[in-house]
Amino acid sequence: FNSLKKGLTKTREILLTDINDLFSPERAIDDDLLEELEEILVMSDLGMDITMEIMEKISKKAKKLKTADELKSILKEELKSLFPQTTSTETETASPVPRVIMVVGVNGTGKTTTLGKLAVKLTGQGQKVLIAAADTFRAAAVEQLQIWANRAQVKMVKHREGADPAAVAFDAVEASMARGIDTLLIDTAGRLHTQKNLMEELKKIKRSVGKRLPGAPHEVLMVLDATTGQNALSQAKLFNDAVGITALALTKLDGTAKGGVVASVAKTMDVPLKYIGVGEGMEDLQDFDATLFVNALFD
Ligand code: GDP
Repeated sequence: FNSLKKGLTKTREILLTDINDLFSPERAIDDDLLEELEEILVMSDLGMDITMEIMEKISKKAKKLKTADELKSILKEELKSLFPQTTSTETETASPVPRVIMVVGVNGTGKTTTLGKLAVKLTGQGQKVLIAAADTFRAAAVEQLQIWANRAQVKMVKHREGADPAAVAFDAVEASMARGIDTLLIDTAGRLHTQKNLMEELKKIKRSVGKRLPGAPHEVLMVLDATTGQNALSQAKLFNDAVGITALALTKLDGTAKGGVVASVAKTMDVPLKYIGVGEGMEDLQDFDATLFVNALFD
């Protein structure tokens, strides 16, 4: 909880400091104050729709509000209610073996790092993990992934640069089945010559995985960069149309004051937010829990 709080420092600075500043004993709860509050919420990148929804509810209760704490507790409740009531403790062990997770996202969002952290995490839970380097477009991508594979002490399936990514994925599924792997993590390209090419390539990888193991991939995890704010949403929609996203990871929440984008993403995309990244270290990938998250913002 403390590392989550620390990771959210920038967002907390905006939300908490500004909200506390709004309230002083002399200040009346009037339209001006509500307008300033609305600005604070917009700054945290909750998105216009959510901000309006919350403001409407708060305005109704505003007359009775006396202190920042009262306002904060109302805000907390409203924010928590935005997230679907799923717990992220859903067991990843009670799933098919091998469980195949295809990781997608635009370059620079933290895809490799997130995949690496996930490998460390799952290995720590006693799982046998394999990584597939299906971003064959950039040699550097494979090298960086290898570093994470070494950290997590897991094997990696790779082909030469420029090889068919769908073939890498196919081989990796086969290897996973042969070696009794629990979870296969497939890294994919985040940029090709054109967006259309990238989407076609991702579709092909997905098909190829399903051909070797019907039902796979069991998860298509999209990595989004919180610092890109509302842009993250349009990326998610694009990838969702192509390969059908089943889970989201939101990275770099520690690097932004726009932590409110979490709520925006969760509400807009009908896909569970499973992981959040709050730092560059191995331990900085957390299971997302809405209650913990909102508490970390305000407590
Ligand atoms: P990729 O191109 O999508 O594979 O992105 P990378 O995994 O290479 O990450 C890009 C940069 O973002 C790297 O410098 C990472 O260390 C950094 N990064 C990834 N996740 C986080 C995070 O949660 N917090 C912070 N502060 N940095 C992150």
